[in-house]
Amino acid sequence: MKLPRIVENSPLARLARLKLGAPNVAMVLGSSIHLSGVSRDQFLRDPFWVAHEMEHIQQFEQYGRLGFLARYLRDWVRYGYYNIPFEVAAREAAELKAHLYAQGRPLPGEAERHPTPKVS
Ligand SMILES: [Zn+2]
Repeated sequence: MKLPRIVENSPLARLARLKLGAPNVAMVLGSSIHLSGVSRDQFLRDPFWVAHEMEHIQQFEQYGRLGFLARYLRDWVRYGYYNIPFEVAAREAAELKAHLYAQGRPLPGEAERHPTPKVS
């Protein structure tokens, strides 16, 4: 499975982390995954998390950078973070596709998985 470019210690991911009040964040911008509060290795060890972000990469490809961001922000205001349709789809994709990113290891249990930030 080919992985996209991964940016560690991203200032943009740090901003998102502050906004979400989360200890660690991965966010997709275009075709790159930006991390804050988590190393590349830690991130790659959670195949559910990787599958979630890979879905956002596909959404970016489908809607374009501006199309994705405009919808994402509009829907955040409308529905709240947890219910943004792009986030709902990414959570579903995580469950369905985590095995693609497991690198031969068993899938992590609930306790080892990165939790979805609970914000509105
Ligand atoms: Zn997401």
